[in-house]
Amino acid sequence: MNSEKTFRLYNTLTKTVEPVIPNEPEHLRFYSCGPTVYSYAHIGNFRSFLTSDLILRTAQAIGWRTTYVTNITDVGHLTEDDLSDPSGEDRMVKALRSKEGRRFANIWDLARYYANVLIEDWHTLNLREPDVRPRATEHVRQQILAVEKLMANGHAYETSQGVYFSVESFPEYGKLSGNREAAELEQTVRDVVVDPEKRDPRDFALWKKDEKHLMQWYSPWGWGFPGWHIECSVMSMEYLGEQLDLHAGGEDLIFPHHECEIAQSESLTGKKPFARHWVHTRFLQVEGEKMSKRLGNFLTVRSLVLPESEGGKGVDPLALRMTLLSGYYRKPFNFTLKTLKANIRHVTRFREAAAHVAAALVAGAPGEDRLGPRLDALYEAALDAMLDDLNTPEALAKTLEGVRLILGFKANLNEASARSAQAWLDRTNALLGILAPEGEAPAPLAPTADPLAEKVEALLTERQAARKARDFARADAIREELTALGIEVMDTPEGPKWRKMIRV
Ligand SMILES: [Zn+2]
Repeated sequence: MNSEKTFRLYNTLTKTVEPVIPNEPEHLRFYSCGPTVYSYAHIGNFRSFLTSDLILRTAQAIGWRTTYVTNITDVGHLTEDDLSDPSGEDRMVKALRSKEGRRFANIWDLARYYANVLIEDWHTLNLREPDVRPRATEHVRQQILAVEKLMANGHAYETSQGVYFSVESFPEYGKLSGNREAAELEQTVRDVVVDPEKRDPRDFALWKKDEKHLMQWYSPWGWGFPGWHIECSVMSMEYLGEQLDLHAGGEDLIFPHHECEIAQSESLTGKKPFARHWVHTRFLQVEGEKMSKRLGNFLTVRSLVLPESEGGKGVDPLALRMTLLSGYYRKPFNFTLKTLKANIRHVTRFREAAAHVAAALVAGAPGEDRLGPRLDALYEAALDAMLDDLNTPEALAKTLEGVRLILGFKANLNEASARSAQAWLDRTNALLGILAPEGEAPAPLAPTADPLAEKVEALLTERQAARKARDFARADAIREELTALGIEVMDTPEGPKWRKMIRV
């Protein structure tokens, strides 16, 4: 179709805007880092997911095939894996221990709940579904195999606390973020794990030994859980092959997360470039301030779009989407009430234009097409803007010009013009997703298999049977066995419920 068009995007790796050149012509295979499901994702996270959605739509608009993978992190993301957060707890465990977390029976429930919320919000914002949405907990075996391979080829080593990637073994470490000086690197990954046996402070964890962790798997290094960075290397290569065309995420992921992904992946594949193009979305502020729970300006999708009767603000989700894409992804975005209101008006005008066109199609007035060529030119201009490093402000401006053009015809829009207008609305919606929601909401995720759950469930069934048979000695013995496993049993009217006790 539009194969003569060039899709250009800024590449963090080369620091230039350059053409996206898929390995297989006209088939874009890309990976975008998804959220850690320990809480509701905020609108800043969604701005980054929106960038990936726009990459997908723009590629499809020029007739490319796409394979789009975005993950769910449901284990292993420690609070100190990011620089801003001072402690080294697992984010999921911390969430379970919080007031909000008390309503979950166990950590698997918490992960599933927030993952389902994420998928709902995703759909609410009219983000297209990825081809695969892998979860870290379902790829632990592959992560273990990757760590074994890194150890075998001299890129990783074991200590009494875990397995680490040896940064010294990968001289190109730092090529994405520009953090090349040892001091810089040490500072930025400081104390991700305090382990005196680490050979180099820059080394980062691939596997953490921890028999008390709420989510643990058996590995060649004993019970424990994988590090955060290895999951994205493993899941992206599992579904996209050893070399990706493009890898996207929020700017906060450039270092350490993406830098570590490159080191691991290229060490696994023998230095084949892991991702050709790296795309990062700048941060979002609210009314000029950093979003934080403490400042009370922490905005989630649902805090805005739920009806007021359910504690939200009743904002039209498409107006929220339009607001988020009204700023260029490569500039910090200031989310303000004023911008939101302006976009609520734009969405209303869009709907008016659609209603106007629908009415004109029913009326069927004769006459020549007076809109087609002008709207086609506006669509091409909007598409060109998207192909030019996702210039969404320009694409939106061209689109609003089209809306004005349609509404300018008032009551005398003839059928031929209305047909062109309808075609333009459909194409524009496919490109930007701001007129009408697409598709059905995806089904909620099936429960994840907890390696411990099977054992616990079997013991509980046996305990119920023992109680029924009035064999209280056996029932008590089973309870003790469960306690020894760190399981707390709560007898409820619907039967026994259990959770893994949190050891502080
Ligand atoms: Zn990632």
